Amino acid sequence: DIRPVTRALLSVSDKTGLVPFATALVAHGVELVSTGGTAKAIADAGLPVKDVSELTGFPEMMDGRVKTLHPKVHGGILAIRADKGHQASLAEHAIAPIDLVVVNLYPFEATVARKADFEETIENIDIGGPSMIRGAAKNHNDVAVVVEAADYEAVLAEIAAHGGTTLPLRRKLAQKAYARTAAYDAAISNWFARELKEEAPAFRAFSGKLIEALRYGENPHQSAAFYASDEIRPGVATARQVQGKQLSYNNINDTDAAFEAVAEFHPARTAAVVIVKHANPCGVAEGASLEEAYAKALACDPVSAFGGIIAVNRTLDAASARAMVEIFTEVIVAPDATDEAIAVVAAKKNLRLLLTGGLPDPRAGGLTVKTVAGGLLVQGRDNASADDLDLKVVTKRAPTDRELTDLRFAFRVAKHVKSNTIIYAKDLATVGIGAGQMSRVDSARIAARKALDAAEALGLKEPLTKGSVVASDAFFPFADGLLAAVEAGATAVIQPGGSMRDNEVIAAADAAGLAMVFTGVRHFRH
Ligand code: 5GP
Repeated sequence: DIRPVTRALLSVSDKTGLVPFATALVAHGVELVSTGGTAKAIADAGLPVKDVSELTGFPEMMDGRVKTLHPKVHGGILAIRADKGHQASLAEHAIAPIDLVVVNLYPFEATVARKADFEETIENIDIGGPSMIRGAAKNHNDVAVVVEAADYEAVLAEIAAHGGTTLPLRRKLAQKAYARTAAYDAAISNWFARELKEEAPAFRAFSGKLIEALRYGENPHQSAAFYASDEIRPGVATARQVQGKQLSYNNINDTDAAFEAVAEFHPARTAAVVIVKHANPCGVAEGASLEEAYAKALACDPVSAFGGIIAVNRTLDAASARAMVEIFTEVIVAPDATDEAIAVVAAKKNLRLLLTGGLPDPRAGGLTVKTVAGGLLVQGRDNASADDLDLKVVTKRAPTDRELTDLRFAFRVAKHVKSNTIIYAKDLATVGIGAGQMSRVDSARIAARKALDAAEALGLKEPLTKGSVVASDAFFPFADGLLAAVEAGATAVIQPGGSMRDNEVIAAADAAGLAMVFTGVRHFRH
């Protein structure tokens, strides 16, 4: 199953590694055929190369739209070597077989990333390249196809070792080739969708570029991998890992939850810290500095914070880093870090430090995808921001300014906690988080219980919920959940409203002297 390489067609937009690769091919006696810019680069290096127009008898035309789209090219790629009829066609039409196709495509994704205008973006849709890639991959039994410079080495190694390419390598390259053309077309379709402001995210194509294979998934018996999508958003997929062990599947999931949550706090307004465990925040706080915010976030639930993931919304400084390395933490994620902070974290070899270069815009669109048996559930991101809420006071008593600030804070956090969510907050810090319960009353009780535990751990006489405010991600269907919050000591409530029994709930709030506001916005998170 070794196929010698007699003739190679090279047509690459990204010319990285091209000359050394071409040099090695020539040294192995391979004849090179190439398109305009690629041929020029090869010829400039003093290597023999045939221009593709010499092969086709046609000039490249229409500003490069038609270069390689010709039977002399595609016949040479697609002919089955063992098929007598195909061989006869090659001979009849004087087509030279092509054994190796090396193509990387017009940089469509990069063109979109640099926000080029519509026409230029369209011009960067490669037509001939994908055609050659798909043809060569289909005919992988005879032809090797390379779509990225990272594979030059493997091809050269096989030519050196066996005088040609092996079937296992050609199959692997074919798989990669179709992954590339699929991702390319998905990027084009998604760009169109964004241009058209499509309201139907379900029609978007999904594809990803492999970042790395992970050791395992959520559990050790599950395989897993991490892919980058074409969404342009600072976060865990695009972060630079400064130090620490490889991220695990759960680390990545939790880091994403933490960083998306902390991005709700605009760094120009406040410093903020989110500590996450199992995809739920176990402490969130604003502060004058990251150090202060971290201390407040940690106080909410110091037991759960052990082995957690910390996200900050400003440049990580040495003082906060010093506080963070005091307990076992899996990951710190930040937009940036000072050299001194990086040095502090370096003392904990296993602690992963991720720097994203910025914060994602919480109001940005984008999609979330979830698999269900035999299908995909696709929706727009929950991009409703606490900054945009139009709050409606529904009780006799209106919240005080201080309560109002805490109410907004609590609702901001509630968005990032699994439903049913109850958040107690005081002085811009969570003091009790109830997450993921099947009943809202249970969430309220758990949150209050956790606040009691935290108060005990801190040696306080009163539970931290005393004089707190409470947020609920969705309406209280009955007054019972609200009454549980009153019992815990909350004085003000924020919730979407919209229950059939809103009047009952409002009456219970009035009877307890609570101030309550409705947001009209729900933050289910399942
Ligand atoms: P070069 O820099 O060699 O002039 O152009 C290389 C690029 O042209 C590669 O990215 C390749 O995929 C692309 N290409 C090759 N043939 C065709 C074609 O017939 N039409 C279009 N639109 N692109 C092509």
